[in-house]
Amino acid sequence: MLKGVDLSLFTYTLRLPKKDLRILIGLLTGDVDLNRHLTLMKVRSGPLCPLCQQEEERAFHLLARCDTISLTRLNHLGLYCIEYKDLYNIRRSFLKASGRFL
Ligand SMILES: [Zn+2]
Repeated sequence: MLKGVDLSLFTYTLRLPKKDLRILIGLLTGDVDLNRHLTLMKVRSGPLCPLCQQEEERAFHLLARCDTISLTRLNHLGLYCIEYKDLYNIRRSFLKASGRFL
């Protein structure tokens, strides 16, 4: 739940390149180029994560839980898996290293 306006985060967000801002908004809203959303849009035929094939590819799965990129998560975020409260600490380097937002 939002606790108020964080001006430093607001400023950071406004300075993101357009492509990164689009990805951030997509991750927050679920309207992002991941298989679950693309399947709902009838662009893909299945919602499974292409990396692990174990769960639907939603933002939280990719960012926090997908086992296939757990080492990437560890290298960029310091943890194999993260919780909702840690999503605030996601770094662009991790998103790029995941290979899902090229
Ligand atoms: Zn996965």
